[in-house]
Amino acid sequence: MTTSATTLRVVIPRPLYQAYDYDCSEQPLPDVGCRVRVPLGPHSLVGIVVERGVTSEFDTLRPIEAILDTHPLFDRQLLELLQWASVYYHHPIGEVLFASLPKRLRKGLPLLQNFAWHLNCDDLTVARQETKRAKRQSELLEQLAVNSLTEAQLTSLHLGKWRSPMKALAEKGFARREVVAPKARNQSLEHPNQHLITLSEEQEQCMTQLLANITESPLKPVLVHGITGSGKTEIYLRAIKSVLTQGKQALLMIPEIGLTPQLFQRFCDFFPNQTVVALHSGLNDLERAQNWQSAHTGEADIVVGTRSSIFCGFQNLGMIIIDEEHDGSFKQQETFKYHARDLAVKRASQLKIPIILGSATPALETLLNAERKRYHYLLLNQRPGSRTRPKTKLIDTRDQTLDAGVSKSLLAEVDNQIKDGNQVMLFLNRRGFAPVLLCTQCGWHAICPACDADMTFHSSRHKVICHHCDFQQTVSSQCPSCKNPQLSTQGHGTERVENLLCANFPDTLVVRIDRDTTSRKGELAKKLDIVRSGKPVILIGTQMLTKGHDFPNLTLVGILDIDQALFSADYRAQEQLAQQVVQVSGRAGRGDKPGLVVLQTSQPEHPMLNQLLSKGYRAVAQQFLVERQAWQYPPFGFQALVRANAPPFEVGLVFLQTLKNDLKPVLEAGQGDVNLMGPMPSPLEKRANRYRYQLLVSSTRRSSLHCFLDQLISAIQSIKKPKELRFTVDVDPTNFM
Ligand code: ADP
Ligand code: ZN
Ligand code: ZN
Repeated sequence: MTTSATTLRVVIPRPLYQAYDYDCSEQPLPDVGCRVRVPLGPHSLVGIVVERGVTSEFDTLRPIEAILDTHPLFDRQLLELLQWASVYYHHPIGEVLFASLPKRLRKGLPLLQNFAWHLNCDDLTVARQETKRAKRQSELLEQLAVNSLTEAQLTSLHLGKWRSPMKALAEKGFARREVVAPKARNQSLEHPNQHLITLSEEQEQCMTQLLANITESPLKPVLVHGITGSGKTEIYLRAIKSVLTQGKQALLMIPEIGLTPQLFQRFCDFFPNQTVVALHSGLNDLERAQNWQSAHTGEADIVVGTRSSIFCGFQNLGMIIIDEEHDGSFKQQETFKYHARDLAVKRASQLKIPIILGSATPALETLLNAERKRYHYLLLNQRPGSRTRPKTKLIDTRDQTLDAGVSKSLLAEVDNQIKDGNQVMLFLNRRGFAPVLLCTQCGWHAICPACDADMTFHSSRHKVICHHCDFQQTVSSQCPSCKNPQLSTQGHGTERVENLLCANFPDTLVVRIDRDTTSRKGELAKKLDIVRSGKPVILIGTQMLTKGHDFPNLTLVGILDIDQALFSADYRAQEQLAQQVVQVSGRAGRGDKPGLVVLQTSQPEHPMLNQLLSKGYRAVAQQFLVERQAWQYPPFGFQALVRANAPPFEVGLVFLQTLKNDLKPVLEAGQGDVNLMGPMPSPLEKRANRYRYQLLVSSTRRSSLHCFLDQLISAIQSIKKPKELRFTVDVDPTNFM
């Protein structure tokens, strides 16, 4: 045992629950939250200092190799949040801390210098003349003429493509680059923002109430339940303004693919003199690091980011807003399985700053919190101006002949709308041409050899692709089993509907939006631009279309196939379906023209569907809550899912069985309020050549669940595990596949 002022406790990027102790002979000692380079066995790793002057159980400690930061990357509160997350999600601290950093910083690279670009000419007319033929250069020139811009701002505004035109401008002598000093975050908003839109009476009331709520009880989260198209974004903008005027920063969190250039532009237009930066997976490592750093140093006033932005460091964070708070993408499904909304609520309470959750279809957890008065509840029940909610029509597919899954009546509606110069959106949550490729003579199916699941036929690529593991195979011209030259398909995906639409509406532009048509950078933005132009188009797409889009000229939404989801075994599927139907429907009639939603189903009498259409989401959610309470499912009960998988059959099962046996004494000694279900095969038992199993832990008390999980983690550590075994613990799981 040694206690020394120079002993550092360091977290390293390994799946370990504990930190390591090192000695530091350099002075001054690195602060808590700084990165250091440390030896581990024969390796040299980047670590993060979490404590100084600790008592170590070891007598001799290895010295650190280098100090990498002069100022901490994590402040005390962020470090506390991450440590709390590690405990709550029972996930190794090393992976938690490192998951929160941009890759460049994880690798030990130094912080970037912050540069800004300025206009460098007295006579704009000359510069304009000389850049006339270069579109990007002249756009950049005009922007610099209004304002100097930091590189983080440029990256966010131009979604990455500004470097080469800017270089050209600099070479012509019209722009110059300078280092910017960190901004002191204590002045108030210097330039007034622009009120481009006058709030409706309902929005005005909501705003007044919201500001009163966060002044009177800033620690209580606010739920803004606003129907689709009710103008929630206008509320967010003004709420953010209220914290910027105090010199603070704001974080707006949005779903994975919800960040459209339009939303970003709305923020830039509203706050022309503030720095708005984006943080999402579409950025490269350099851009990510730059934007992260601009929040960290205080340069950015507003960060608009997806899930992982909850870990972003801020100089002086004053508010968090979560748009579409019900969205599944806030839960990370790989490695460190955190829920960004839940962590945001935690972070806000720790920092004692307001948090606003907004949605047209709040999650059941959130509604229950509002019902129990833990959250303020604000309702926006109208669309501003003379706009009304869309009307809904059910089409019973049992009475209709379908072509590629589309009924004649729906096609007729599409025709009507297009003739009137409007836009149409058809929603089908399945990409590809058809989910099954088969031989009707011998019964052969195209099955993924790695997953034991049907592969989806993609006709444009002439391939079958496994949507679980991405295994791909070119389709042969005959049945591989009986040589029948005629293969058939079953079911339909977006590609097939696209073909049908192109054939039926040869003079209208058909735009397909799904993962296949938008995988290249910039493709989605390009397609959205076409739709934004307002000319008649027919959109066909997957759930990518449901998130937040605002197309004023879109009047008809067709929902093609929800029957499967109506009968799913997953208890969350109904909640998700109801949310999806409301969200997709909400894309219709957002502009001046009224909207219509056509819902095709073979189950028009389905009680949930009927209640949703006649009484609305709140009523359905209420019903779900009653059922969840009866079953003690979340949010009334608490769950964790232990998953295990390995290439050989049943290795994961044996591991989970051993774990369960080892935990028997713990269960018996407990209060009887923890239950184990399983182990059992996962619904998708074989995936990517691994056999998968799961064990569900549930309890009516959160604290009991977590006590039990502590024991479970130590039990796991003492079980001898085969090398090929992988396991995870998922707290508050949302995906049971
Ligand atoms: P939500 O996020 O609630 O679905 P949005 O904030 O996207 O809705 O607003 C929907 C549309 O209504 C947008 O085009 C927006 O510009 C417009 N809008 C919002 N508030 C007003 C208002 N007070 N007056 C006129 N138009 C408004
Ligand atoms: Zn597969
Ligand atoms: Zn055959």
